[in-house]
Amino acid sequence: MAKTKDKTTDDEWRGRLTEEQYQVLRKKGTEPPFSGEYWDNHDPGIYKCAGCGELLFASGDKFESGTGWPSFTRAAADGSVETRTDTSHGMVRKEVLCSKCSGHLGHVFDDGPGPGGKRYCINSISLEFIKDE
Ligand code: FE
Repeated sequence: MAKTKDKTTDDEWRGRLTEEQYQVLRKKGTEPPFSGEYWDNHDPGIYKCAGCGELLFASGDKFESGTGWPSFTRAAADGSVETRTDTSHGMVRKEVLCSKCSGHLGHVFDDGPGPGGKRYCINSISLEFIKDE
């Protein structure tokens, strides 16, 4: 499903996001493990993009990875996220981005526990959790 690409400029992102959010979402930074708000969150709800509000992940797909980052077996829906090959830091990884605003979310690995075998390793700071009523 093709989505309209966000036209937000870098200056607008700087104004809209906190410095920490900006460094991860727009500059592909990584929050330290076990430091974020959601790695140990077990409440039922949904996780939206902290940049644009797009629905990205659901609590039912979250699992204990032991990594210190919120981890999911899949995205909330087909097309919620995009992946891109990332060769930074001397590794070949699959970067995960919000499909709507192209914000950096984290990386996806092939050692997940679900039938799809995926482990979406996501920065808490790229997400906004909405707890179920
Ligand atoms: Fe987004």
